[in-house]
Amino acid sequence: MKRGTTEQAKQLKAKAPPLVVEQFEKQYDHSMALFEKVDHSMAYDTALLFIKEVEQKSSEPISCRAGCGFCCHQPVYVSTTEFEAIKDHLVTHNIKVDLAKVQAQHDDISDGIYHKLKVPERRCVFLGDNSACTIYEARPLMCRRHVVYSDPQHCASGSTSQIKYDVSPRTEGHLSAYFAFYQGDHFQGHLLGAAESLRRGGEPTADETSSS
Ligand code: SF4
Repeated sequence: MKRGTTEQAKQLKAKAPPLVVEQFEKQYDHSMALFEKVDHSMAYDTALLFIKEVEQKSSEPISCRAGCGFCCHQPVYVSTTEFEAIKDHLVTHNIKVDLAKVQAQHDDISDGIYHKLKVPERRCVFLGDNSACTIYEARPLMCRRHVVYSDPQHCASGSTSQIKYDVSPRTEGHLSAYFAFYQGDHFQGHLLGAAESLRRGGEPTADETSSS
């Protein structure tokens, strides 16, 4: 059931040395085959472990800090299950979402003009006024996977050639397979899908109540 990979993975494959691509594809195939046998939460936990592994093996100081948020201006992939966790977080912490902005960003992605927008217009709806993530504990895997070592100003300026970061081929291969297998979608798409629930403050729908 291969359905392609994420945009980020495609970029990694286009730029990476052949050995890295080989590692990536090996992990991708391995994870795809494994997902037939394991459940969603096991696949998710494995992805988290891979991400932690990259952080732990890092010998350089990591620049990512609360209040930075420069990387939070791009579409984020999120699985349905991740969105459920986010929704719970929104309800528990009484966080309101700017649905007009969600709609506008979603339209821009659909029209293929997202990356032509000015940076402030791309700002994630969950990035708080203090530039800290308001759903930090429930943030998606895609937001967790990068470890940046370079000056955050390079992230701010978008000069990608100067950004020094790490994400292991194993992590990227597993995550790409994860999103392909579990049908990850754009963050904005999911938010719109759950718009009715969010509008009502995230109360469960009748269907959700009866199925729990
Ligand atoms: S969910 Fe949080 S970490 Fe992810 S892009 Fe949005 S503000 Fe940034």
